[in-house]
Amino acid sequence: MCAYIPLSIPNFEGNEKKYVDEAVEQGWVSTGGAFITRLEMDLAAFLHTENVAACQSGTSALHLSLVDAGVRPGDVVLVPPLTFIAAVNPVKYQFATPVFIDCDDSFCMDPVKLASFCEQECKFENGNLLYRGQVVRALVVVHVFGNMADMESIMEIARKYSIKVIEDATEALGTYYTDGLFKGRYAGTIGDYGAFSFNGNKIITTGGGGAVTSNDSAKVDHLRYLSTQAKNDPHYYIHDEIGYNYRMTNLQAALGVAQMEELPDFILRKQRNYDLYKASFEGFDLAKLMPFREGTSSNKWFYSLLIDRSRISATMREIITVLDQQGIQTRAIWGLINEQKPYENEITYRLEKAPYYATRILNIPSSTQITEEEIGFVADHVKALLEELAQ
Ligand SMILES: *Cc1c(COP(=O)(O)O)cnc(C)c1O
Repeated sequence: MCAYIPLSIPNFEGNEKKYVDEAVEQGWVSTGGAFITRLEMDLAAFLHTENVAACQSGTSALHLSLVDAGVRPGDVVLVPPLTFIAAVNPVKYQFATPVFIDCDDSFCMDPVKLASFCEQECKFENGNLLYRGQVVRALVVVHVFGNMADMESIMEIARKYSIKVIEDATEALGTYYTDGLFKGRYAGTIGDYGAFSFNGNKIITTGGGGAVTSNDSAKVDHLRYLSTQAKNDPHYYIHDEIGYNYRMTNLQAALGVAQMEELPDFILRKQRNYDLYKASFEGFDLAKLMPFREGTSSNKWFYSLLIDRSRISATMREIITVLDQQGIQTRAIWGLINEQKPYENEITYRLEKAPYYATRILNIPSSTQITEEEIGFVADHVKALLEELAQ
């Protein structure tokens, strides 16, 4: 028998306690302190990028990116329908208009539909792409579950139409291209901005926290400035812009520095566990484990089972409830953002795959601590349940 197997929980097997104690002993617990700078440098080195700003959350990282990208009230921002709602809410914080573009089989933005939206629904005038008279200022591409979006195609389209690219890499820390134009480049370092999250269930956690980077180091300095109330000088209260209280604290960063030491090992474990699940579901015809994009090395943060709806009509809620009673925590992929109350009147463009996957994907336990025995237990129980439910 296995104890209850959670979906995705933090792993503190390293120096977490030691560094947090150090921060407390030194009295540096707030938005100043050496751990913040150290975490920023560790992230920059890991991502092979020049400059990273640590902040309060992935959501604030995304919001700062939109502000810096010049997204203004009335602008259009192209967004995904099938992801966590925090990827889209900052568009509303800027009083901009989201337009939902469908995903491809990686769950990430479909470049073919993106291109046809730009070509067929918009006009390119004086260097701006216009949709119903409004400027399409930016797009938010999410690297869902640690998969890499098709960045080669997306960047080409975005450059052609002068659209700023904000990568939501909150789930994809450590995913990079192994082939092609962007070989060696990490998710979050390809577009104009990249946002990361260190929330409790992400591959590393600082309790709550995030980081933001850009291909332009000066922009990262500006993002850091905005995150600290746009304070021009540490001693005199001079502010040249409207800032935010979005800076990470030293306590969070202490946790983050310890987690970064373990990140390479976490990724190896996630990849190994994925392979174990893959072997278990090989040849099983009621559900298949979704692959990650070829030509990339994924952090394999979350695992997705695609359920065969031609044979299984039970709702996700029913499946999740039975598995929970058996001691296995699973979850459904998100509800579509365009169907949530604040977004139900927004424009969608040819959504086909997003609603398809929304009713078919079950996420199974993926914590770094999960044992081989537990993976076998999960696979056996999921298979047995689906066989029982199959018609
Ligand atoms: C986790 C997550 C966020 C938000 O990050 P927080 O740190 O929780 O604010 C944004 N987008 C996606 C896709 C996420 O998974």
